[in-house]
Amino acid sequence: MSILEHLPHANVKRLEFGRGIANDVGAQFGRYVVATMSIPWNVVSQRIGKPPAHVIDVPDMDLENAIALEANTPPCDTVVAVGGGQSMDMGKYIAWKRGIPLVNIPTIVSTNAYVTQAVGVRNRGKVEYIGEVTPELVLIDYDLIRAAPPALNIAGCGDILSIHTASFDWQLAHTAGQEPRGYVHAAVERARALVQRLDESASDIRALSDDGIRAIVECYLEINDICIPLGHYRAEEGPEHFFAYNVEYLARRTFVHGWLVGLGIQLMSRLQDNNPGEIVAIMDRLDLPHSPRANHLTREDVVQALETLRARTLADERWYGIINQRDITPEFIEQVAGELEF
Ligand SMILES: [Zn+2]
Repeated sequence: MSILEHLPHANVKRLEFGRGIANDVGAQFGRYVVATMSIPWNVVSQRIGKPPAHVIDVPDMDLENAIALEANTPPCDTVVAVGGGQSMDMGKYIAWKRGIPLVNIPTIVSTNAYVTQAVGVRNRGKVEYIGEVTPELVLIDYDLIRAAPPALNIAGCGDILSIHTASFDWQLAHTAGQEPRGYVHAAVERARALVQRLDESASDIRALSDDGIRAIVECYLEINDICIPLGHYRAEEGPEHFFAYNVEYLARRTFVHGWLVGLGIQLMSRLQDNNPGEIVAIMDRLDLPHSPRANHLTREDVVQALETLRARTLADERWYGIINQRDITPEFIEQVAGELEF
């Protein structure tokens, strides 16, 4: 029985797990096009069997590029996204624009783009969500995913562990009378159980065994099932993300999302007095990189990001939480900086 039967809002119509299950699937897709990048396609093109009618080499998700690439794509029955987040985003864009079925074959689980609804593009540097798509089929081929760098696959845990600090903030906002969308305790309890599930699967995840990969994917499906009916990802996105957005804003470069969110979880769980030792221990058991050093951040970078965090969070009109409520004092910054690895 498929897990999807228990998760009506998982945002995936059909899901298959297995070793080598992407082999020879090309013949199932009619006349199809592939959205991909050179590294994953070099591997998957050898295995997929019947070749696609056209291959879209995805440079980025800049709106102008997406429009031009879609216009150059021949008529087709199906779009198949092969690779990581950007390939999935382009696959979603084509499927949304043309109203054709989308098949996702992620070759890495560092992000959750293979199961998210939103079609995201970058318009003049800013991310915009222009539509929603539900994939017809997601193929999780363990062999393909294990071929990706392990620390990048494990980065996929960041957006699950963020439940620890995000759900805390949601509850805090509710208690402070600052939660206009309402607070759903059952959603928070379900979400928190996913952090426990990751911890219980830590040795499998660290080893990226079949069960470990499956645990990461199933947690994302359950997050969808919790959050999509609510209309927001409040249980999963909170101050750890707002910290990460501020770091990105200041540094003007990209980061491995899950590693930067990991640093945000460490710092914000400290600010919240929310079992920081426990969540850091879970990150370490999973081998999730979360230090400033892993993120190529200096002490000055982290200090500046903390000093400007409230102003940036207010300017961006983020959800109410600990950043609004508790001052980030020089003493606090001094103390936490002493606990970090630079
Ligand atoms: Zn995230």
